[in-house]
Amino acid sequence: MAPPNNPSSHTKPPAHRNVKHVVLGDLLFKTWYQSIYPEELVNKDTDRLYICRWCFRYSCDADAFAKHTQVCQHRTTPPGTKVYDHGGYAVWEVDGDKNKLYAQNLSLFAKLFLDHKSVFFDVASFLYYLLTFTDPHDPENYYILGFFSKEKLSWDANNLACILIFPPYQRKQLGKLLMGVSYKISDWEKDSGLIGGPEKPLSEMGRKSYSRFWEERIARYLLLHTSDTEDSEYSSPQKQKPSKASCKRQPHEVVTVQEIGLATGMLTEDVITALKGMGIVEPTTPSKKRKSNQETGEVNDGETVMIRISDVLEWTKAHHVTWRDPVRDEGFLGRWAPRDMHEISDSGSDESDE
Ligand SMILES: [Zn+2]
Repeated sequence: MAPPNNPSSHTKPPAHRNVKHVVLGDLLFKTWYQSIYPEELVNKDTDRLYICRWCFRYSCDADAFAKHTQVCQHRTTPPGTKVYDHGGYAVWEVDGDKNKLYAQNLSLFAKLFLDHKSVFFDVASFLYYLLTFTDPHDPENYYILGFFSKEKLSWDANNLACILIFPPYQRKQLGKLLMGVSYKISDWEKDSGLIGGPEKPLSEMGRKSYSRFWEERIARYLLLHTSDTEDSEYSSPQKQKPSKASCKRQPHEVVTVQEIGLATGMLTEDVITALKGMGIVEPTTPSKKRKSNQETGEVNDGETVMIRISDVLEWTKAHHVTWRDPVRDEGFLGRWAPRDMHEISDSGSDESDE
């Protein structure tokens, strides 16, 4: 849900960018869009804006910036609570109400790379989830790679408002990691949770990223859960792939769009988007009511669809989709931690190949 009367929302990218480049830590890169830094601090024509890579404070002055980095209070750890930690990647939940300046500075920086999404100055009603990476050989040093924001109370059950992987870290599949985390922490698996999705409308880039994320999510679900495979395959590396025999026994899966949505935590409209994108739905025996839909390839909410498992396999191969979900259940902490943490981390210890 967009905040009402947000004066900072942009509907089209302005031709003029107030900040041309940013220096984030020791990385220099171009900005994409206009942000709304206060004009008394950031000139309309700033070539380089120095941004603290730990707290997102900004300065046009390189010396002031260097001084700040010596004393930044977040240089060893981000604010907030760690909710996920696996393979060097961690996600931290930051309450915008308790960390207003941090959230505002993060939003100002993010707006340089976000087109239609508003920068929310109403940061108090949002949670921010920072994605960090820590090299195990350099554990004192962490990098913030991107984040997503989420309304604390979303009337539309949005599990994500805004997502950004910072430009130097893009094209590493990190967006999918954050999207996966956003579904998990929406609690859709619990009775009290709601099935939801990202705030709409999506930007062009958001639509592409989400379509692919949803397609992969559904492919994994279909391959790992709809055949006569067992849950244990998730935790047992040698049994990752459903055997050919099980595919032969059940060459088709007949499922409804709603079933896929309930099993993956996805809205039926998003399931439909993904199924269409994958092109794996085969016509079922046409009923009178649905005949026209079958002929046009339309898929509707609640409709039964027939999916050939071999088509899903082919799709995953053609798109180089790994069987393993990039988001690991055993990585979640606190209230999202798996119930039997000990058992899962035992089986996880076999996976030293990553
Ligand atoms: Zn700082």
